[in-house]
Amino acid sequence: MFAVGLTGGIGSGKSTIADLFATHGVAVVDTDAIAHRITAPGGAAMGAIEQAFGPQFVAPDGSLDRARMRALVFSDDTAKARLEAITHPLIRSETEREREAAIGPYVIVVVPLLVESGTWRSRVDRVLVVDCDVETQIERVMRRNAFSREQVLAIIARQATREARLAAADDVIVNDATPLDALAREVHVLHRHYLSLAGAAPA
Ligand code: ADP
Repeated sequence: MFAVGLTGGIGSGKSTIADLFATHGVAVVDTDAIAHRITAPGGAAMGAIEQAFGPQFVAPDGSLDRARMRALVFSDDTAKARLEAITHPLIRSETEREREAAIGPYVIVVVPLLVESGTWRSRVDRVLVVDCDVETQIERVMRRNAFSREQVLAIIARQATREARLAAADDVIVNDATPLDALAREVHVLHRHYLSLAGAAPA
């Protein structure tokens, strides 16, 4: 099935835009949701994580102790690579499974780190980047996650730059102070374009 990779920095509006595509009957596969599921209680990654990092990284309910793991990988690139060696193949195979099961004219695959983590670019037919300025990202994520400005800045510093993301884009949606109805219109225009690229008749 024709696949569009949807990416953008934290708080840029990926989920908001994916939801708008879903209103047109487009299937959405969210790699963040998959990452969360494989590290939930009994999740497919939990056995290997416990073996590699120790039981102290498993919360009492059997899920990943996210705060502890976040603190570790933030300051330790080797640990980050070890964690990703466990999670990335599982995320990839689960994404493939969901893509194959998807029903609809094409599929939107939400990949926050599409530009950062190499192989994704070649595994989608088209890249849609949600772009917004850094101040907007900071405000949104501080509000949504109750993070401090410093926390948001630290996350942004570890993500690709706007320029790197835009360089990888086939299509761009600018989502700064964009009203939701304007965003919905932009999504509709892109949706028609993707329908024709996917070989489906425009709605
Ligand atoms: P991402 O998935 O890229 O992290 P979200 O779609 O969750 O971003 O958006 C981050 C926050 O900003 C959410 O609370 C969302 O409701 C809000 N938001 C996103 N786009 C807009 C917009 N155009 N106008 C107002 N609020 C927005």
